Amino acid sequence: MLEKNKMDHQPKQILVTQPFAPSAGQYMKYVKQILDNRWFTNDGPLLKELTERLKEYLGIPYLLIVNNGTSALQLAYRVKGLTGKKAVTTPFTFPATSTALEWQSASPVLADIDQHSWNLCAKSAEKILLRSNADAIVPVNIFGMPCDMAAFDKLGKEKKVPIIYDSAQAFLSKFEGRSIFHYGDIHCISFHATKLFHCVEGGALTFNNREDYERAKRMINFGIDEKGHVPEPGINAKMSELHAAMGLCVLDELPNLIEQRESVISNYKKQLQNEVEFQFTNYDSYTPPMYMPIKFSSEQTLLSVSEKLNYSGYQARRYFYPKNHNFLASESLTQLSINNDVSNKVLCLPLMHDLSDKHVKAISDIVKGCLI
Ligand SMILES: *Cc1c(COP(=O)(O)O)cnc(C)c1O
Repeated sequence: MLEKNKMDHQPKQILVTQPFAPSAGQYMKYVKQILDNRWFTNDGPLLKELTERLKEYLGIPYLLIVNNGTSALQLAYRVKGLTGKKAVTTPFTFPATSTALEWQSASPVLADIDQHSWNLCAKSAEKILLRSNADAIVPVNIFGMPCDMAAFDKLGKEKKVPIIYDSAQAFLSKFEGRSIFHYGDIHCISFHATKLFHCVEGGALTFNNREDYERAKRMINFGIDEKGHVPEPGINAKMSELHAAMGLCVLDELPNLIEQRESVISNYKKQLQNEVEFQFTNYDSYTPPMYMPIKFSSEQTLLSVSEKLNYSGYQARRYFYPKNHNFLASESLTQLSINNDVSNKVLCLPLMHDLSDKHVKAISDIVKGCLI
């Protein structure tokens, strides 16, 4: 009994993030509908509803929902014919960006990142594209912050290579006032539970070209077309009705979640301004409240902050460390000096819609306490 009480008094660890959970009643309303319908997957009515609502929300014509963000990447690479070819991408990203390339028998070639946005640098990408004779560019909108999309659009047109964005973290990002999905050729999105908008597991592709959309639509259903023919092989990347139901529940709550998370971020920024570096762009962009990354002046400081936070029950996370690209030749990484600097010094602080002011203050105080 005593043991149990002791456990109860131990503070709960605050994780780096936690998903929004709808009430059981809200979710069960949809589950009952699914059971009554006896339609569980294969482009069901809830998936159709979710697709229509997201298209309207984003103002885009070609949106294809799939089972996860990694499938979205694999499909995009496949649709753009990258098998056996090379693609220039960033080292500062989640491993899926480049492991999905390898999985399609394509080779990632790494270029350096920009020192403020921490995204693939268009100038470095151009240099590496020419040097390696690559066939595509895969920029990532890291932590939801848009790349310099005008520069990548220009580069794609000039060099006649497709621009495929890993926008897994950038579902609601904007470049110069418009949804980022208007730029480039294809965007790959993740609706994983750790993302701001989620379906437990899920993802989507957006296209700026009807043929690419039609082809991917066939590919996610074994390659079968509307007449029942199979012009080329596909896979099964369909989203189930149970996952779509979660998406519909989260979508209802999304404006509130964004408002709450934006207030947590502005609270953090107030406490930490002039103390640490934040990610930023020199162009007009909107970054949704996806993550709370900060950059320290040294890795040593990052390590001591991390340790102190952990001791006080707060989990902070180095997302892209240790390096993701162990399977690539290590010499290709050593020359990427900005990436090597940034990836050693960036830490993400806990961020979720219901993180209280008290916790933000406590976390910020711990951070500041390590800077002296
Ligand atoms: C989450 C994420 C992915 C993978 O998406 P899943 O839905 O988990 O498969 C890919 N790239 C980036 C940058 C991500 O953050």
